[in-house]
Amino acid sequence: MTNGDTHEATAGPLIAARDLVKTYGRTEALRGVSVDLRAGEILAVTGASGSGKSTLLHCLAGIVRPDAGSVTYSGRPLEGLPEHRLSELRRTDFGVVFQFGQLIPELTVLDNVSLPLILAGTARAEARARAGEWLERFGVRGQEELRPGEMSGGQAQRAALARALVSGPKAVFADEPTGALDSLAGEQVMTALARTARESGTAVLLVTHDAQVAAYADREVRLRDGAVALAVTA
Ligand code: ADP
Ligand code: MG
Repeated sequence: MTNGDTHEATAGPLIAARDLVKTYGRTEALRGVSVDLRAGEILAVTGASGSGKSTLLHCLAGIVRPDAGSVTYSGRPLEGLPEHRLSELRRTDFGVVFQFGQLIPELTVLDNVSLPLILAGTARAEARARAGEWLERFGVRGQEELRPGEMSGGQAQRAALARALVSGPKAVFADEPTGALDSLAGEQVMTALARTARESGTAVLLVTHDAQVAAYADREVRLRDGAVALAVTA
């Protein structure tokens, strides 16, 4: 049975979006977008402001349901999943990072990064130990007990990446993760993200309008007015 038996879940893309349409009022944010995110790759989604990048990310991550078209994860359509299964999937298999503000300001950095593990049932001591390892991997050492507001923007963003990766997701969705940073901090964030994603085999959907950030990706899909304008393989 195993010989030459290719299973869709392993052979196909990790996430496949087909003909996605999403409208907000009279705005067509997505007008029939198809894109694959393959296991372990870094895919940049680029395009001008308003071209539909964030909407596409939200649809692929199961945060927003498209009006038409389909999104499959490991061959399974997301549209059939009830809301609680979708949020479970987001918790266990996906990580998200936004431009800023996603760390909880009242919690220490270590508690922020431990939180996904604790929510998934990991004992507090183990969660904190693993969170500490991920913070170290992202070069945020000795700052575990600070609150996010007491760190630089770049450090807080690297802590946010640690929190996105701590549960071992299959895919990380990063929406303009360096958008609020200066170029040096942005480079540090991108270097850390690319290295850890490759080490752990995590796929990354990287939304950016910055060509220097897109250069960290294996492939680029460019959107224009809610449609794919160009697909580039590095
Ligand atoms: P990008 O991330 O490339 O800047 P977005 O996906 O955020 O683009 O937005 C695409 C278009 O959809 C824009 O015209 C934007 O104003 C509109 N849009 C996005 N989200 C919403 C929303 N929640 N409500 C109304 N309009 C929205
Ligand atoms: Mg956006």
